[in-house]
Amino acid sequence: MKPSKIKNRFHREQALLDAISSNAVLINQQGTILVANTAWNEYASQNEGDDSKCGIANNYLEACLNGDDDAKAVLQGITKILAGEASKFEHLYPCHNPSEKRWYIATVTPYPHQNHDIRVLISHNNVTGLIERQRAIEARENRYIKVIDSLIEGMVIQSANGEIETCNQAAAVLLGLSIESIYAQKSLLPTQKLWYIDGSEMPADQFPPLLALASGQQVRDIILGIGADNQPVNWLKINSHPIFDDAENTLPSGIVTTFVSMSKELHQTQQLRELSERFELAVASASIGIWDWRISDNRLIWDDNMYKLYGINPDDFDGVYDEWRQVIHPEDLVEIEQHLQDTLAMGTPFEKDFRVIWPDKSVHILKPFAIVRRDSAGNPERVVGANQDVTQLRLAQQTLKESEQRLQLMIHHLPVGAIYLDGSQLFMNASTETVTGYPQSEITTIEAWFTILFGEQREEIYLQYQQDRTLGFPQTRTYEYRHKKGHLHWLEFNAFLFEDGEAWIITDISERKNAESKLEHLAFFDPVTQLPNRTNFDKVLKETILGAERHQLKFALLLLDVDQFKRINDTYGHPTGDKLLTLFGERLTNRLRESDMVARLGGDEFTILVGDFKNPTELAELARQLINELRQPYRIDSEFEVTVTVSIGISLYPSHAQDAMRLLRNADTAMYLAKAKGRDTYRFYSEELTDAVEHRVSLESQLREAVKAKHFVLHYQPLIDMASGAIYGVEALIRWHKPDGEIISPDFFMAVAEESGLIAPMGEWVLHQACEDMASWVHAGLPIKKIAVNLSTIQIEKSDVASIVLDTLAATHLSAEHLDLEITETTLISQMDKVEAIITQLKQHGIGFSIDDFGTGYSSLTYLKRFSANRIKIDRSFVSNIPLDKNDVQLVSAIINMGHSMNLSVIAEGVETQEQLDILRELGCDSYQGFLKCRPVSAAAIEHILQSELKDITVRN
Ligand code: C2E
Ligand code: CA
Ligand code: CA
Repeated sequence: MKPSKIKNRFHREQALLDAISSNAVLINQQGTILVANTAWNEYASQNEGDDSKCGIANNYLEACLNGDDDAKAVLQGITKILAGEASKFEHLYPCHNPSEKRWYIATVTPYPHQNHDIRVLISHNNVTGLIERQRAIEARENRYIKVIDSLIEGMVIQSANGEIETCNQAAAVLLGLSIESIYAQKSLLPTQKLWYIDGSEMPADQFPPLLALASGQQVRDIILGIGADNQPVNWLKINSHPIFDDAENTLPSGIVTTFVSMSKELHQTQQLRELSERFELAVASASIGIWDWRISDNRLIWDDNMYKLYGINPDDFDGVYDEWRQVIHPEDLVEIEQHLQDTLAMGTPFEKDFRVIWPDKSVHILKPFAIVRRDSAGNPERVVGANQDVTQLRLAQQTLKESEQRLQLMIHHLPVGAIYLDGSQLFMNASTETVTGYPQSEITTIEAWFTILFGEQREEIYLQYQQDRTLGFPQTRTYEYRHKKGHLHWLEFNAFLFEDGEAWIITDISERKNAESKLEHLAFFDPVTQLPNRTNFDKVLKETILGAERHQLKFALLLLDVDQFKRINDTYGHPTGDKLLTLFGERLTNRLRESDMVARLGGDEFTILVGDFKNPTELAELARQLINELRQPYRIDSEFEVTVTVSIGISLYPSHAQDAMRLLRNADTAMYLAKAKGRDTYRFYSEELTDAVEHRVSLESQLREAVKAKHFVLHYQPLIDMASGAIYGVEALIRWHKPDGEIISPDFFMAVAEESGLIAPMGEWVLHQACEDMASWVHAGLPIKKIAVNLSTIQIEKSDVASIVLDTLAATHLSAEHLDLEITETTLISQMDKVEAIITQLKQHGIGFSIDDFGTGYSSLTYLKRFSANRIKIDRSFVSNIPLDKNDVQLVSAIINMGHSMNLSVIAEGVETQEQLDILRELGCDSYQGFLKCRPVSAAAIEHILQSELKDITVRN
């Protein structure tokens, strides 16, 4: 199709379109442009510079399809119109070029015409000017809304029919509503109730926006409350302005209402009002009168209350100062006037009570208060003051004081001790002085109380008191305290705390305590002998077992039974029996140590608990002594004498039993054994022990006799020099030579001699005898250099060994270097200091020392160094194991080496075989002693041996 032809077909449409100023085209169903007006063509040539795409016969739809988003939007619009879905389509789009901003609006409308080819009219209108104006208006409005929103005042703009046009944030906050709910409001009438400031309800037609609308006038500064029932009211100050659109209009087109909150201000005002009401009330109820004294004309101005305080009718008072003086109590006048002058002169507070006399002669006490007002020169101009009637108050105070005094008087004379504490100050009543013996003047503080009364226990008691105090003094406490006169009393202590102090009630309960202890005595003591009874004994026995268990101690239980006591009762009667038992108990108690417990189990049975005994012999000795003493006659009522014997059973803890019941039962069994043996004797629970003890006891008594009679001899055993084989000395060994000729070895009696202390005289005898024999041998020129004498532990511990030795040497004329003392290693360890002293002293004189039985005492080298001994003597037990026990051989070797390293000579004792001797020699032992060479023999035999040795030497020489 040629363009010209088309032009011809649509010349009507062409002419029409050309007449309009906007760019316009007509297109058919397929989008082909059938007609384009002049403006279109001009626009196209300006913008595209190319007519080919949008000119006649081009497809507009295709062009849109290839265009930008706006073109596509237009395409959609055209499609809708073509489909008959819309009757008009508009699309605003920018079409800026570098020099200007332009806005176009595309309008698409169907083209209803007989010419069915043309379907749609599309026009593009330049609306840039319009758009820019609209934008400017929007920006203004936005600014305007922002300003409104930034106001602190609430603002609501309503149309004349009440519709909300604008409302700001502040309005929403002040009204307590959301912005949306404000906009939803459709009337000028408020939806909430309104209140006047006095609390009455405000009619709705008085609402300021309504008033402003009705009057066409501003309504200003109306204060009103707004709020629903049961809700807090928002108090607002409101202004409403009518808006007139133009000057001619007489009716407003809208209302601007602004408001601020008044809640805070109203609340403060309310508080102030209440305060002043309360103050008025206070003044009225305290009957305070206010006065003003003008000094210049000496006049008094009184308020109504003042007249009431003075009981004066206002008509009867002219307000002259002198009139006031008339009603003051004459006794107070001088003083109060002086007081007032002082206030004027020095500004001191005017506050002294004074009395006034009413016309009816009744007396009232007033308390004044005043402020002096001065002129610029500082001279008093006026005194403004208040008076208060304090008559009732003072009377009440006085009564209180009196009743307090009465109470104090009463407390002071209470029959029990009462103490009041104020801080650490202590106030006591009269009874406290009696109870303690101390007057108040001597105990004034709590510290003094505890120090003076409780002596050594004060800290303990004070601590307990403080604990009780913090816990709130629950119980009664009893304490022993020392009365001023020195005796100990019992005190009961009850304390309680007050808000501002503390009080104690103290009672002397010594009598009650005595009664209690008497009762206790009855429960635990036998009324006849006053000795502890069975209950008491059982208790003590159990405690003793516990203690012994814990500390690994032993103790003994002795059960004493009076032999044939029934015979006494039957013969002399019960009173005599009781007296005998009392005397018996006394003898028992006197005989025993305080630590031993004596008790009467009942009838004629007594028990004794003996702790801390060394060996059974000691107990046997005790039993024997008791038996002897108790066998002595008892004098009854200085009239006649009665004799009884006792049988004693002994059981031992822990060897015989470990519990109370068995201990008692075993003692009982033992006691019956004693009875069976013919009474008047004692028995241990085990027969062997009894036998052993008896043997011991008889041995001791025999030994005692032997010591007295000197039934001992000394045997001597040679000490041989290993290298030469020559005797260089002898060891003195004691033997008991019984009268019947029997010779007893020391192994049998040494232990008893030591335990009984007989070793002391025995040892002295040995020393003397040995030195004497040695002196004679030396004198005789026999070849002997040393005499060895043994010292026992007990000698070292109990006797003055050093002096005895020196005396003996002097007495026997033996030179000190011949004497060698043997002290066992065990003695050395147990009596270190004494041994050291003895060695140090005697060594100066040339006496030698040997450490006997070496190796059995486990002493360390350090010990040995302390003692400057000359020799160590290897114990027999090691030597006897040579050569079978390799360990002992090594040990002996070690002892020898160690001895040599310390410059000690080493001797081996108990050498019985040649083999032993050979080994010892090989190990370097210096000398020896033993049966191999010679048994211990008599002095005569030794003399003989020595003489033959002497001959040998002479022969050799
Ligand atoms: P001790 O001081 O170790 O005396 C050496 C003992 O070993 C002596 O026994 C002696 O007879 C014995 N004995 C010597 N060589 C041999 C031997 O080869 N084989 C055996 N099996 N034994 C040998 P004794 O005389 O019976 O003396 C025993 C202990 O009695 C002494 O041991 C000593 O501790 C003590 N003793 C003896 N006399 C006195 C003394 O006068 N005063 C003191 N305080 N204790 C003495
Ligand atoms: Ca010895
Ligand atoms: Ca020995």
